[in-house]
Amino acid sequence: MSKNNKIGLFWLRDDFRLENNFGLSEATTNHDNTTVFYLLKTDKYDNQQAQKWWLCESLINFKNILKKLNINLEIIPTSSYKEFFQKLIKKNNFSIYWNRVYEPDYLKFDDYLSQQLENNRIDYKICKGNILNEISDIKKNDGTPFKVFTPYWRNAEKFYLESIPAKKKKVKKQKKRVEYFKNKLSCESILPEKNWFKKFVSLWVPDEETALKELKNFLRDKIDNYGEARNFPNLIGTSKLSPFIKFGQIHVETIWRECVNHKTKNQGVTKFLAEIGWREFNYSLINNFPHMLKNNYSKKFDNFPWEKNSKFLSAWKKGLTGYPIVDAGMRELYSTGWMHNRVRMIAGSFLVKHLLINWKEGEKYFRNCLLDYSAASNVAGWQWVAGSGADAAPYFRIFNPILQGEKFDKDGEYVKKWIPELKDLPNKFIHKPWEFRSDKFNLGKDYPLPIVKHEEARSKALQAFKKI
Ligand SMILES: Cc1cc2nc3c(=O)[nH]c(=O)nc-3n(C[C@H](O)[C@H](O)[C@H](O)COP(=O)(O)OP(=O)(O)OC[C@H]3O[C@@H](n4cnc5c(N)ncnc54)[C@H](O)[C@@H]3O)c2cc1C
Repeated sequence: MSKNNKIGLFWLRDDFRLENNFGLSEATTNHDNTTVFYLLKTDKYDNQQAQKWWLCESLINFKNILKKLNINLEIIPTSSYKEFFQKLIKKNNFSIYWNRVYEPDYLKFDDYLSQQLENNRIDYKICKGNILNEISDIKKNDGTPFKVFTPYWRNAEKFYLESIPAKKKKVKKQKKRVEYFKNKLSCESILPEKNWFKKFVSLWVPDEETALKELKNFLRDKIDNYGEARNFPNLIGTSKLSPFIKFGQIHVETIWRECVNHKTKNQGVTKFLAEIGWREFNYSLINNFPHMLKNNYSKKFDNFPWEKNSKFLSAWKKGLTGYPIVDAGMRELYSTGWMHNRVRMIAGSFLVKHLLINWKEGEKYFRNCLLDYSAASNVAGWQWVAGSGADAAPYFRIFNPILQGEKFDKDGEYVKKWIPELKDLPNKFIHKPWEFRSDKFNLGKDYPLPIVKHEEARSKALQAFKKI
């Protein structure tokens, strides 16, 4: 598009950044005046309560950044994207830009909207979103999608290396700030009604500057040991960038570039980039096999004899299962909006294998509590844990929460942090408090008895698995 006199509109979704924001830099290059708008679909965040807080903060912070560039950020409530755009298109005094969001419904809507814009002769441009490779670029030689991570990532890495863009694109300052829409919302009106999120305020700063700073610190202090340290929840051995990546405060191309420029190309760097690769793989999976967003990727799990047990489910959510590593993880999640990956696997496995509760219940609860919730990684993570996903952990491999605790939280530091009731237990008993005898510790009162016995639960799970 050449420079034109119409206003440029940028439809902001998960793109709260200036660096590598391809749609916004196009808009501000092609126009003297650009307005950014965020469409808040009224029911979208009903079961993503924690993310309401992140979204609200992101909007406040990004609005201030954009103001310095003479760009207005306007938040518009809508019950239907289609209705909103049908009205907007009638105005015909704008060109519009946005970045892709790699979920089937969003991509389908892109097709619909581009058709409408073309029919009405409105200029538009859809740009690359927060991903290294476009989904359709990575395929097997026979044109079908990858179902296994290792060959997927080998191909994806190579493809990306051969196509890295040469130049960074910038967001340009605009001539004047233009208010374009009526009927706007304030950022604060997005906050959840319950105020448990207030704890997040001292833990996270949802903006681009913090994301870039966190990446720098991680590369300076942690990446060299990442391969090992990433498994230990008591260490802060991972980047904790996931919510920033989810909301696009940092683009994965920026992460890639900083990693390859890192002074030593060691295993830590390779492993870290491979985790970014898992995220890409998950996007590829949900777009090539969209049924897995709501159902089992592997159809044989449709007949799995899941059990409904609201008492167990509630104990799991509250971190009161009697298994310290599981409970610590669930409490970390509720308090901080984030949980360590190792513990996500252990707590998830406990729900689906020890309690035989459908992974969909866990997926739903994580969706509500995680600041980094992403449709692709949450559903793929849960199906990996359950064994029903592509390239998943086999169902019969059942994590033992006691051994996992003893291996990955040897001195119980992580457990003691999140379960203060156990802080005086000797390390030897920290992952099996039911073996500890003391007048000062009353099991069943101070901390729950295990809601199921590991060995019994394990064999019950294996029996259930035989049925499919
Ligand atoms: C049951 C379950 C549910 C999960 N739900 C989500 C989710 O909703 N959103 C989400 O971003 N991740 C999810 N994960 C993956 C992983 O736990 C988090 O990405 C990771 O813990 C984020 O912490 P970090 O930023 O410190 O990761 P780091 O180890 O620093 O990794 C860097 C980045 O790579 C990506 N990444 C790392 N590990 C994985 C992984 N296993 N799968 C996919 N991407 C990964 C993330 O974007 C992460 O920020 C889930 C995992 C499980 C087992």
